[in-house]
Amino acid sequence: MGESVLKGRPLTPRGLDECQKCRKTVEEDCIRLGLFERWHAPCLQCAECDQAASILEDAQLPPDAESRAPKRRALPRPDGFTYVASNFVSPNAIEVAHIFCRAHGQRNSVSGFEAVSRLEQFAFLLNVALRRLWDHLRHAGVITAASGRSQIEGLVRVSLI
Ligand SMILES: [Zn+2]
Ligand SMILES: [Zn+2]
Repeated sequence: MGESVLKGRPLTPRGLDECQKCRKTVEEDCIRLGLFERWHAPCLQCAECDQAASILEDAQLPPDAESRAPKRRALPRPDGFTYVASNFVSPNAIEVAHIFCRAHGQRNSVSGFEAVSRLEQFAFLLNVALRRLWDHLRHAGVITAASGRSQIEGLVRVSLI
């Protein structure tokens, strides 16, 4: 949770809060690759068979677990999914060319997808919003890069505690 969007690559025109597949804002538990590439679970689809990363439904949980445990949403399950990159800039900036399910993994495809809880995604969206605010204020000349960065980074740190 300590990673700051402020230290990442510059904002891309299409924004950081969009799903890499459908380009809609991701406001729920999801799947990420590195820090920035994110997908709705149903949008992480195999290039060969269209199978998507599933979310484990309550019905699939053992009956025991369901009756005793408080009801909670299961995380998306990207296990077994792999990708081939078209461009590997850094571990946090990977351009994905193709995604494969467990059955269709290629010899050169690699794992790295991780489930993101709804809370973690909300914290990420907050980071993105603060980053936009910082860009805007700096562009408007309200703050300088040096003073603004430390102020906004302070806010981000507080927001993630
Ligand atoms: Zn999507
Ligand atoms: Zn497949």
